[in-house]
Amino acid sequence: MKTVSSLLDAHWYERYRQISKLNIRSSIYDVTDRCNLRCKGCFFFSSGEHEVAREEKDIGKWETFIENEMARGVNLAILIGGEPTLCPDRIEAFYQRLPSFCATNGQIKVDRKRFPDLMVGISLWGDEEDEKILRGKDTFAVSSAHYAGDANAYYLYTITPKQLGKTEKIIRKIKDAGLKVHMQLLSNDEGVDGFSWQAEELTAIRAEMDAMLDRYPETVISSKYYHQIITTGRMCGRPFGWLECPSVTEPLDKRQPQPKRLIGFIRWASDLRTTHRCCTSETRDCRTCKDGAAHMSWVMVNKRAHMNSTKDLQNWIEVYEMFAKLYRFIPW
Ligand code: SF4
Ligand code: SF4
Repeated sequence: MKTVSSLLDAHWYERYRQISKLNIRSSIYDVTDRCNLRCKGCFFFSSGEHEVAREEKDIGKWETFIENEMARGVNLAILIGGEPTLCPDRIEAFYQRLPSFCATNGQIKVDRKRFPDLMVGISLWGDEEDEKILRGKDTFAVSSAHYAGDANAYYLYTITPKQLGKTEKIIRKIKDAGLKVHMQLLSNDEGVDGFSWQAEELTAIRAEMDAMLDRYPETVISSKYYHQIITTGRMCGRPFGWLECPSVTEPLDKRQPQPKRLIGFIRWASDLRTTHRCCTSETRDCRTCKDGAAHMSWVMVNKRAHMNSTKDLQNWIEVYEMFAKLYRFIPW
């Protein structure tokens, strides 16, 4: 049987060793049901997830809930919504207790005196034109003014088919703002005309993402294997989808046979009782899912499938490192 040490040289083995001790146990929390934008294609609103529960307003209940989550073994809280920055007290309840990551549209600045090193992922859906169509405004103008040069913030750039040939312009703007960027693909949950991926567009965007990583390695946090996985939806000859997805809420996961999955993962609604099916839209057809974190996690939980060759295992390490950088378990 092939072993990790037989496949890796000293350099790669050390990289493997650094990540293999991390033991990341994440869960996702809807901090609020409200948002200061209403993007076309927002998985939260388009799937009605904002209506399934009433948000808990008692901060003491949030604190107790978070402590119970820590007792359950969670060591990474991913805060989403709605827009978490509408509720800084709830962010603080997490921040004071465990490593936390805040997804935001960047229109309200996280108070850096209160949250000096909170990792912030700022959503961006394309250039000014796309953002106005999909989100009603040029969010970058505001978010880049709020976060320029911030060492604990990066852009989460959701690429749409309309962005083909334009990604470099965006990456340069982000570089010029002194920030990093991670790329993922739009799933177009609300079927906006012209924003659904065609096969040839996925091939083209993969090449473009690879080129961006080659040209801007200090700015782009990514890996070519991740680009391959997210654009083809295939890993080690297997198709991504419901039967393979690692990011299903554990108590709701009745799949047989059980695929490799994130241990203890739950996506909680903001009433602190209701849970959602998975890390993204409750109603999305899994065959159309392009969720970046789910694809990343799919690779990460399938180490054994990547032990056929040195290259496969190096690919696995790079994806794991990318995830660990994005959630600040290892430095950029
Ligand atoms: S900013 Fe985020 S949560 Fe708000 S509507 Fe847009 S995608 Fe949804
Ligand atoms: S929509 Fe995506 S993340 Fe959710 S269960 Fe389906 S494949 Fe997984």
